[in-house]
Amino acid sequence: MSKLLIIGSVAFDAIETPYGKTDKILGGAGTYIGLSASNFNVDSAIVSVVGGDFPDKYIELLASKNINTEGIEIVKDGKTFFWSGKYHTNLNKRDTIETQLNVLADFNPVVPTAYKDAEYVMLGNLHPLVQLSALEQIENPKLVVLDTMNFWMDSCLDDLKKVIAKVDVITINDEEARQLSGEESLVQAARVIEAMGPKYVVIKKGEHGALLFYEDQTFFAPALPLEEVFDPTGAGDTFAGGFIGYLTKTDNLSFDNMKNAVIYGSNLASFSVEKFGTNRMQELTKKEIGERLEAFKQLTHFNIKSY
Ligand code: AMP
Repeated sequence: MSKLLIIGSVAFDAIETPYGKTDKILGGAGTYIGLSASNFNVDSAIVSVVGGDFPDKYIELLASKNINTEGIEIVKDGKTFFWSGKYHTNLNKRDTIETQLNVLADFNPVVPTAYKDAEYVMLGNLHPLVQLSALEQIENPKLVVLDTMNFWMDSCLDDLKKVIAKVDVITINDEEARQLSGEESLVQAARVIEAMGPKYVVIKKGEHGALLFYEDQTFFAPALPLEEVFDPTGAGDTFAGGFIGYLTKTDNLSFDNMKNAVIYGSNLASFSVEKFGTNRMQELTKKEIGERLEAFKQLTHFNIKSY
């Protein structure tokens, strides 16, 4: 069975949406990715750091999903990374209210020995040099996927470009793709980003689905139109976790299988937004994922002949 190594923040989030407000709850890119990928029962581990204020029950929750937590360092006298965000009535728009790096500020990732031979690597949202340092510890990965955000484009673009040059796939949202490439058209943005290194570019468009670009081929996966979206936080990470979780499980890097991975990413992200924080991902069942796959098929299936 292939192994999946996930690097990403494990955090406290405080979220405000038009539907309500939460105080510090479990969040972080690594957390969402791990919970999402765990639906494929793959052998996975998270590398991250938390402070002494991080409750044991959250680590136990990850472990209960068969995620190896040995690589989550606990800095006893430090504070866990904290992020707070506020969404507008249009849930596609959010403002970051606060980012407290805390223990993430001096994080030196250590990949557990048992995962140095991981075939699949997910570099979740973290400082690009931390992502690079973790990547350098992995012997011979088959596929490396990078997720990042505007925060790093604004603060350390040169470092970010170094890591982008070393990965196979980048997942990025539409606004960030425009910022990174300087191009307004997403097709042109994907071309510019491909030239920076990644063979595959996945552009996430929130409630408007996701695009996969590879050489001269393009694939589009819709997002499921949902009646209610409570909290979009972590949807991008959940998407990435579904994408790489499926690829780790199937161990097949054909373009057709990459398309399936994008569909699974959208499938899992559609659950994540139904409740605050990670709540929906904690209780999700295989049966629900299977039913939603059918809903996705129905959504895009049509039977038409040319005239
Ligand atoms: P998303 O909604 O997919 O962008 O992911 C939101 C998650 O990313 C939250 O759970 C945050 O804890 C985490 N996050 C936000 N900003 C950062 C950052 N600068 N570094 C690492 N993780 C972050």
